[in-house]
Amino acid sequence: MAQMIINGQQVGAASGETMQVINPANRQVVDTVPKASAEDTRKAIEAAAAAFPKWSGMPAHERAAILLKAAAHVREHLKEVAELLTAEQGKPIRDSMIEADRFAAGVEQYAGLVAGGHIKGEQMSLPQYKAMGLVVRRPMGVTGAIIPWNFPLTLFANKMAPALAVGNTVVAKPASTTPLSSIRLTELMNEGGLPEGVLNLVTGPGNVVGEELIRHPLVRKIGFTGETVTGQQVMASASKEIKRVTLELGGSDPAIVCDDADVELAAKSIAIGRFFNAGQACLAVKRVYVQEQVADEFIEKISARASRLKVGPGMDTSSQMGPMHTEGGRATIEEQMKDALDRGGKVAAGGGRPKGEGFDQGNYFSPTVLIDVPEDARVWKEETFGPLLPVMVVKDFEEALRRANDTEYGLGSSIFTRDFAKAQRAIDEIQAGYTWVNSIQVAYDELPFGGWKHSGYGKEHGTDVLDYYTEEKSVILAGV
Ligand code: NDP
Repeated sequence: MAQMIINGQQVGAASGETMQVINPANRQVVDTVPKASAEDTRKAIEAAAAAFPKWSGMPAHERAAILLKAAAHVREHLKEVAELLTAEQGKPIRDSMIEADRFAAGVEQYAGLVAGGHIKGEQMSLPQYKAMGLVVRRPMGVTGAIIPWNFPLTLFANKMAPALAVGNTVVAKPASTTPLSSIRLTELMNEGGLPEGVLNLVTGPGNVVGEELIRHPLVRKIGFTGETVTGQQVMASASKEIKRVTLELGGSDPAIVCDDADVELAAKSIAIGRFFNAGQACLAVKRVYVQEQVADEFIEKISARASRLKVGPGMDTSSQMGPMHTEGGRATIEEQMKDALDRGGKVAAGGGRPKGEGFDQGNYFSPTVLIDVPEDARVWKEETFGPLLPVMVVKDFEEALRRANDTEYGLGSSIFTRDFAKAQRAIDEIQAGYTWVNSIQVAYDELPFGGWKHSGYGKEHGTDVLDYYTEEKSVILAGV
C-alpha cells in the first residue's frame, strides 16, 4: 500500500481507512492509498508551516540548487513514475514518459528562474525629500495544490515548482483516482534533498482534504485545477479567509478553419488537439467551425485521421490513445453523443466503443467526429471531456467568430488561415486565454496560461506565475 508524505515521513490515515486505485484499461486494483481526514490534513499543514521560516529564509539560489538536485533525482526514475501514471490514469506509456519529463522540467524551469533573479520588485521616486519607494515581493507561507487526474504530474509541477522556488511550502492533494505517481514523485523530491515538511502530500476525498486546505487559516494560497463547478465551490470556501486562489477550470475551445486555410495542417493539428489524452484535456479543441468552401475536404481529412488512431491499453507501446479514465466519464461522452444524434447529427468517424478482445474490460471509446449537429445540442454548450469532436459548417468568417465566442468558457482557441487580417481579428476578438494561429494546441511553459470567463482566474506558467505565489509590499525608505 502506498502512503502519504507528511514532514518527510510515509504515513497512513489515522483512521486506517484506505481507497482503491483502479486501472482504467482493465478495472483491476493497482494499489490502495490512505483515505485521509481533515485531522490528517491539518498535520500536513502544520508540518508545512513549521518548515516555512527556514525554507523562505534561504537565499533564492540555495533553494534553487536544492530543487535542481531533487529534479535530477526524479530524472533517474522517470520510467518508474511513467508506468505508475499509465497504470492509474490510462494514458499511453509514451505520453506518461513525456509527462514525467515535464514534471522535472517544471521544477528546473522555476529553480532556474529564481536563481536568475526573477523574483522581481520595483523602485520608484517619491515626492518626499531623500525618500525612495520600493515594491518588494515576499513568499506567502503554506500553499495548497489541488490537482485533477487528467495531467496529474504536469499540473502538480505547475503549482508546486513556482510555489517552492519563491520560498513557500506546499501541501499537495492529488485526485483520488491518480495519487500513486504523485506520491512517488513527492518521495523522490524528498529523497533528492528537499528539507522535511517543505513538500507534503495528502490523499483523500476532495470535499474533505481539499476543503480543509481551502478553509485552514495557515494555508495562504490555493492553486486549483479542476471542473468549473468545483472551482466555484473552492472560490466560495476560500472567501472566508480571503484566501488567494488560482483557478484553472474547464474549457470548450473553438477552432476556426477558414476558406484559405492549409486544410491538411488544420486536420492534423485539430486531430492532435482533440484526441490527445483521449480528449481529456482542458486545452483541447472541443468545437470546430469550418467555412463551407473547404468543409468537405476538412471533414474527410479529420475523419480519416480519427479512424486511423490506434486505440488500446497504455502499456502497449503501439497504442496511440488509451481508455478513458473512468466509466462515468465515458458515460457522459456517450450521453452527449446520443443527444447530438437524437437531434439529427451524424457520425463521420468512430461513434461508439471499439470492438475486439480486451476492449470490454476497459473504458474505451473510439475517436469520434460528428457532423450536421444542430446548434442547440449539448456538445456546443457543455465541455466534452473525451474523444468526441463536433464539426459545424459555417457560411463565413463572421459566423465562425460569433459562434466561437458563444460559450461560457474562455480557455483556448485556434484559427487556421493564411490571411493575417483574419488571424488578427481572432487574436483581438476571441475571448480566451490562448489563441493558436496555424498551430497545434501546445501550451508552453514560457507563456502565461489562464482562462477567461468560467475557465478560471489567475495565471500559471511563464514568469507571471511567480506573482501569484508572492505577496507584494510597498516600502518607503527615507534618509535620516
Ligand atoms: P474535479 O473538479 O472533479 O477535481 C479536481 C480536484 O479537486 C481533485 O483533486 C478533486 O479531488 C478535488 N476536489 C473535488 N471536490 C473538491 C472540493 N469540494 N473542494 C476541494 N477540492 C475538491 O476535476 P476533474 O478531476 O474531473 O478534472 C477535470 C476538469 O479539470 C475538467 O473540467 C478540465 O477541463 C479541468 N482542467 C483544467 C485545466 C486548466 O488548466 N484550466 C487543466 C486540466 C484540467 P477528488 O479526486 O478526491 O474528487
